[in-house]
Amino acid sequence: MSEKDFEIVCAKIEDKKEFLNSISQEIWKMPELNYKEVQAHAVLTCALKRCGFQVQKHYFMPTAFRAEFCPKKVSGPTVAILLEYDALPEIGHACGHNLIAEAGLAAAIAVKAAMEEDADLKGKLVVMGTPAEEGGGGKIRLLELGAFEGIDSAMMVHPAKITNFFPRTLCNVRYSVQYKGKEAHAGACPWEGRNALDAAVSCYLNIAQLRQHLKPSWKIQAIITKGGTIPNIIPSAAEMEVHLRTPTRNELKVLRTRAEACFTSAATATGCEVQFRYDEANAYENLITNKVLANIFKEYAERLGMEEYDPEKWPASTDLGNVSHVVPTFQPGYAIPCKGINHTKEFAEASGAPEAQGPTLLVSKAMAMTALTIFRTPQTLEEVRRVFEEDIADDS
Ligand SMILES: [Zn+2]
Ligand SMILES: [Zn+2]
Repeated sequence: MSEKDFEIVCAKIEDKKEFLNSISQEIWKMPELNYKEVQAHAVLTCALKRCGFQVQKHYFMPTAFRAEFCPKKVSGPTVAILLEYDALPEIGHACGHNLIAEAGLAAAIAVKAAMEEDADLKGKLVVMGTPAEEGGGGKIRLLELGAFEGIDSAMMVHPAKITNFFPRTLCNVRYSVQYKGKEAHAGACPWEGRNALDAAVSCYLNIAQLRQHLKPSWKIQAIITKGGTIPNIIPSAAEMEVHLRTPTRNELKVLRTRAEACFTSAATATGCEVQFRYDEANAYENLITNKVLANIFKEYAERLGMEEYDPEKWPASTDLGNVSHVVPTFQPGYAIPCKGINHTKEFAEASGAPEAQGPTLLVSKAMAMTALTIFRTPQTLEEVRRVFEEDIADDS
C-alpha cells in the first residue's frame, strides 16, 4: 500500500465520520434479533447504494446483502469485508454489532475511494451483510449457499473489552436435553412417580462435577428451562439447554462424550428416559486467524496509534469461525471504553456512546489499508494462502 493510499483512507473516513456515526446510531437505536434485521438491512443497503456500490439486497436470505465495487473488467483479488448487525434479546446491541456494520461500511468507502484514484489497484471489493451471528449461524447458511465462493480473503473487526490482533475463538455446540418421567400425586403416592426434574438437577450436578476435570479453555454452560408445573405433581417432563465450547474440533468430540455421559447417567439414576440432540446446523467452528493478514492489519493499526494487546484471552464463539476454515480470514478484537464485557447492559451502552467512535474509525482505517495492501500487491495472497493451508492442516 502506498503513502497516498494511507492518506486517502484517513481523509475519506474522517470526512464521512458523521454519516458513519449516524448509520451506527440508527442500527443501535432499533436492535433487531437473528434473521429479523429488516431495518438494519434497509439502512445499510441504502447507504452502500448512495456510496456508489452495486447492491444485491436480500442476498440468499431476507436480511443478508452483498455489495460490490469492481472498477475494471480485469482480473485481480477478491476481498470481502463482512458486516454484522444483529442484537441480543432484551439487552439490545450488547455485542456492538452496530459498530461492526459501521466499521465495515467505513472501510469499504475508503477502499473504493483509493481504487477510484489509482488505476493500478485492481480487484473486486465485496461488502457482505451477514445476519444472525448471535446463535443463528447466518454465515454458516451463507457458506452453504455458496456466498463465499471466489473470495480470496474475508475480514471483519469486532468491538470488545480488550484489543487483540490475533484472537482465537472456541468451537461451540448447543444441546437440548429432555427428560421424561412419570406423573404422580406428590403427597399421596410419590413412589409411583419418576421425577424428571430430579433427572435434570442430577444432570446439572454431574456437569458441575465434570468441570473440575476440564481444561481451563473448555466451557460448559447449562440451564434448566422446564421443571414441572406445581409442586404437588411429580414432574413428568424437564428440559435443559447445554452449551459446550472448546478450542478445537477434536477436543469438542472428547467433551461431547463426557457431557453425554452426564445426561444419560442422570436418567438412569432417576428412572427417567432421556433424549438429547445437538444443533449440528449451528455448530460454530473455532476462528483461525490468518497471521499474514492479521500482521498487516496490526502494522497499520499500530501506526495509527492502537496499542493494547492481550493474546491470552479466548473470546466466546462466532460463526466467522466457520468462514475461517474455508477462506483466509481475520477478525481483530478492538477495545471500546466500557466498564463491562460483551453481552452486558454496560456494553450495550458503550456501543452507542460517542467514545466508541474513535476506536471504531481507527480499526476501519487499518482494515481498509489491509484490503488495499492485497489489491496493491496481490502476491501477498500467495503467502496468505500458504499459511492458511498450514493452519488448516494443523487444526486438530
Ligand atoms: Zn456476541
Ligand atoms: Zn458479536
